Amino acid sequence: MDSMSWSRRRFIGCTAVMLCSAGSSMALWPFSTPGGPSDIHGRIFKGDAPKTLWKWSHEAYAYRKLSKDRVVCGICPNRCLLSPGDRSVCRSKVNVAGKLYSLTYGNPCAVHVDPIEKKPLFHFLPASRTFSIAAAGCNFRCLNCQNWEISQAKPHEVRHSELFPDQAVEQALNAGVRSIAYTYSEPVTFFEYMMSTASAAKAGGLKNLWISNGYINQKPLLDLCKVLDAANVNLKSYSDKLYMKLNGGQLQPVLNTFKTLHDQGIHFEMTTLMVTGYVDDPDMFKRMCEWILTATGPDHPLHLLRFFPRYKLERLPPTPVSVLTRFREIAMAEGIRYVYVGNVPGHDGNNTYCHQCHRLLVERRGYHIPTFNISGQHCKFCGTQIPGVWNDHSGGQIQNPNTAGREMVTG
Ligand code: SF4
Repeated sequence: MDSMSWSRRRFIGCTAVMLCSAGSSMALWPFSTPGGPSDIHGRIFKGDAPKTLWKWSHEAYAYRKLSKDRVVCGICPNRCLLSPGDRSVCRSKVNVAGKLYSLTYGNPCAVHVDPIEKKPLFHFLPASRTFSIAAAGCNFRCLNCQNWEISQAKPHEVRHSELFPDQAVEQALNAGVRSIAYTYSEPVTFFEYMMSTASAAKAGGLKNLWISNGYINQKPLLDLCKVLDAANVNLKSYSDKLYMKLNGGQLQPVLNTFKTLHDQGIHFEMTTLMVTGYVDDPDMFKRMCEWILTATGPDHPLHLLRFFPRYKLERLPPTPVSVLTRFREIAMAEGIRYVYVGNVPGHDGNNTYCHQCHRLLVERRGYHIPTFNISGQHCKFCGTQIPGVWNDHSGGQIQNPNTAGREMVTG
């Protein structure tokens, strides 16, 4: 997730658009208590589809019809095979009478205006604001999920509002933002809504940001790339075993996603949540850096986020700051040029330094940018081109309104 930057407290306190009561839904929760057994491998919800479709249903974007009215979804590597009446692993798709439907078209469960740095995206339109939307569901089962109230829920179980694609774009334009971010839960699972909104946003002059676990098949990803401007994708670890143990997925499809984004020329940044005792393995991390460099080169920023105990991993301690500092140094020694430390206010790793002359380019204090030394696309001091899409600020202070001091967390 979002880079699933939406803590439980903030979800409850700050979500701008929420309608139904969530209280009654808690009894329907498919998990036992946090820390207890989980359905980490994901499962089809047999016979769980509604008898009739609701207003926010939309025929699925990519699926195949099989015999006996069965269907198989083609959006993500889970490739859910659903008989009539079944609900998908991500909880947001159902087979009704031999057709596959998304239940999240135009009914987001979270709508909010965020600073773009919160995604986190540090090298794309800095200090701009982004209209952020999410719908219920996820194709992963991360034990450390920050947003499990919406990611591990069925669309009817969460508060939601009506916001069809054209309305979302209209609201975004009225809010004066420069982009729309598909975020918080897992946009792969509301692909239909994201694609329609992104197409309308592009036509309206807005950028599209995809904040994702990257667990998507090649064909829908290529379609998405036609309307996508930037992405932050989680690289949760560099171990297939860990992906299965902590997240309920596989590593290789995520690596494929990074390669495709790179080949398509999409600006992307990577996020790794340093889950204590699991992801903080230096040997695995070095292999991960080697893969990044070989497959996508040195210029895509890497965010190393401090883990805080959440959800089913409440027993683990937070990542020590010294570990984050050390892993940042490892990644930079390996050759990745822009490596950031997140969820640690005031850490030197919040800032951007020129990879050539090492002078301070962007100083960040929370979401406040008191120092900005990039002119056009270049370092003001040595003229080196800095990877990313930068505003042409001539200097001075940049302030995201109403955003100072917020933490970044990710799931
Ligand atoms: S997007 Fe959802 S329905 Fe489609 S394959 Fe993935 S988990 Fe299954």
